[in-house]
Order: sequence, then structure tokens, then C-alpha cells
Amino acid sequence: MYINEIFSSKKPVLSLEVFPPKQAENFGRVKDTVTKISEIPVDYMSVTYGAGGSTSKLTPELCQYMQDDLGVTALAHLTCVSLTRSEIRAMLSDLKARGIKNILALRGDIPSGAEFPLPDGYRYASELTADIKDFGGFSVGGACYPECHPDSADIDKDTDNLKRKVDAGADFLVTQMFFDNNAFYSFRDLCAKKGINVPITAGLMPLTNAKQIERMCVLSGGASMPAAFTRIISKYIDNPVALRQAGIAYVINQIMELASQDIDGIHIYTMNNPDTANSIVSAVNGLFE
Ligand code: FAD
Repeated sequence: MYINEIFSSKKPVLSLEVFPPKQAENFGRVKDTVTKISEIPVDYMSVTYGAGGSTSKLTPELCQYMQDDLGVTALAHLTCVSLTRSEIRAMLSDLKARGIKNILALRGDIPSGAEFPLPDGYRYASELTADIKDFGGFSVGGACYPECHPDSADIDKDTDNLKRKVDAGADFLVTQMFFDNNAFYSFRDLCAKKGINVPITAGLMPLTNAKQIERMCVLSGGASMPAAFTRIISKYIDNPVALRQAGIAYVINQIMELASQDIDGIHIYTMNNPDTANSIVSAVNGLFE
């Protein structure tokens, strides 16, 4: 099913993100994990894309497995930073041949020291979005950043650029993780002012261990942490069981509050952890019926 059709037919939409293995030999193990996660009732699942090398094929492969064997609508992430336009066309043909209908069109992080943009390559995700739309047959999503993308001078310029991505054909947007719902509400208001009127899904990351969150915050360019959240981290830092429970409860609270604010969708970064994803979804699934 096309994801833009899911957004047209219900609100809020609930989705989960998983990632493929870094090494092809671990594909079977990740398939088992994804099979468990797919038992959680949601509207679609997305699979991240690791740029370069043979593992980039694992994203389409995992998406195809999810659709054909597990009956789950798949959203394939695709980054263009290291690919030429003809390589992207080959990727799109492959995705289409596998029956994948949804792509999250991303630029990807620019690898340090790499040539960028490549000759006949892409500078921004909006260019990839336009090419996918020209190719045809896909519902296309894009990434967005409630607390500003790290390459942008400010949120005003970043959302101007986001508007370009939507004008290029993005059907829906998925946010970077955030821990402060107010950051999301301000961002949503700003998008509305700028005429960005496609569905915006809130990306939420459950805290299950402090190191992982610290790392993800660096990667995400520093999602701000409300005092209530940092108190949880410092209080339970040496108690992994309590930290995990408190982190799950925090995300459940975030979802409860967001749902009451007429949100388009919630996307949970599962970190390939079926138990954590299941604990969250079973606590809130009534909000998504
Ligand atoms: P863009 O939309 O191109 O934006 C990048 C920067 O360029 C922004 O600062 C933007 O404001 C600016 N910009 C855009 N257009 C213009 C313009 N015309 N003129 C001037 N500036 C402009 N990475 C992966 O490697 N694999 C994944 O699977 C993956 N999944 C992700 C999923 C989500 C939901 C999110 C939020 C991020 C994900 N990322 C992933 C990370 C993403 O690739 C990086 O954040 C990357 O640095 C930016 O990608 P983008 O698609 O947002 O780029």
C-alpha cells in the first residue's frame, strides 16, 4: 500500500523503524528480529539505509521480506550522497521490481573527505525526491528536523529548504527524534506558516540505555533534553532495569500528549528491540484505532 494513502485514510498513523545488519552474514538474525517486531500491529515499518558497499542491497531485501512474507507495508530509506543519478535509477528499478511502493528520500551525511556532490550526483534530498517522482510509482517521504538540521544556520532557513523538498514531491515527512514535545509543536506551527501541509510524523526514540541516547543525540545534532528527561537519566544511570522502564514510560507519555494534539503520526525508532517496541505499542494502541 502507498503510505500517502494510509495518511489519507486514518489519523494518527503508527509506524516503526528497523535497521538492516551492517554485515550480510547477520541478515538471518536480523530477519528473525524483524519478524518478531512485525507481530506488533502498526500501519507500516521503515528500514534504514546504510550507504555504500554490498550491504546497501539489504534494505530492499529486508523490505521485500517484510512485504512478501510478513504482510507489512514497507518504507525503504534511500540516501543519495554517494550515488550518481544513474545508480539511483538502477536502485529505483530494483525497488520497483521487488514491489516496494514507498521510499524515504534522504541525502545522507556527507562522508568526511569524500567528493561531494559527485559528478552527476545530488546535493540535496529535494533533488532525489524530484527524480523519484519523475521515475514514478512511489509514495515519497522526507526527513525533517524540529530542532534544525545541523548544516543549517537556523530553523527559518531549514524550513525554507524543507518547503523545497515538499514542493519537489514529498508526500509526508518524518521527524528526527525529539524529547521535548514543545519543540515539535513550534516546528509544526512554523511548517504550517510556510505552507508545508503534508502529514508530519513525530519520530520518537525510547531511552533504553544512557550511552545509546548520548550517542544518538550527537548523531542527531543534539536534540534538546527537558529537565524531566535528564533527571531520569541521572537518577537511574546505574540501574539499567529502572532506566529502561523509565525510558519506556517517558516515550509513552510523549505519545499520549502528542495524540491529544491531533498529530498526523508517530514513528518509533525501535533500535531492533522487539520487547521495547511491544511495551510501548501495547500501552498506547487504543489511540491509533
Ligand atoms: P536534505 O533535505 O538535503 O537537507 C540537508 C541540509 O541541506 C539541511 O541543512 C537543509 O536545510 C539543507 N538544504 C536542503 N536544500 C537546500 C537548498 N536548496 N539550498 C541550501 N540548503 C539546502 N541517514 C542515513 O544514512 N540512512 C538512513 O536510513 C537515514 N534515515 C533517516 C530518517 C529520518 C527520519 C531522519 C530525520 C534522518 C535520517 N538519516 C538517515 C539522516 C540524514 O541522512 C541526515 O540527517 C542528512 O545529513 C540529511 O539528510 P536529509 O535528507 O534531511 O537532507
